[in-house]
Amino acid sequence: MAGKTFPWVLAPVPWADGAQYTRGSHDGLPLLSYGCAPRDRLATYRQLREMGLRPGGQDPVAVLYVRHHESGKTSFASLYLIDLAKPVRPMTPAKWTALAKANLGRRICPQCGKDHGYVIPPSLGCCFTCVMANETGERERQAA
Ligand SMILES: [Zn+2]
Repeated sequence: MAGKTFPWVLAPVPWADGAQYTRGSHDGLPLLSYGCAPRDRLATYRQLREMGLRPGGQDPVAVLYVRHHESGKTSFASLYLIDLAKPVRPMTPAKWTALAKANLGRRICPQCGKDHGYVIPPSLGCCFTCVMANETGERERQAA
């Protein structure tokens, strides 16, 4: 049984106040088994990536072990604090510029070619000035 290899140990941990039950320690870090790691506080590198996060320079605060029943092997994964994780792709100045350019393209009215400072609503297909001008033009044509 797993309990024989990794006995429950009450130890202070960085993700909670006071001592928590761990499965001992591994490489100087609290060892946790799958299921006893608080999933809202700790995540493996893969779990962080699934959340769009990365460790962000922090050291692992615990080690998760997973026992593979078929092979009988035990694998270890570093656990990181979700609170200290950072978004995978931080916005660089170049990315902001690219985004601004993409938005600028969507702000230019295809009818009058002006940048009005807002994204042209796809439902209108042109800026509000042109919509108004089109409506006025139609009214004038109808009145004529
Ligand atoms: Zn326009």
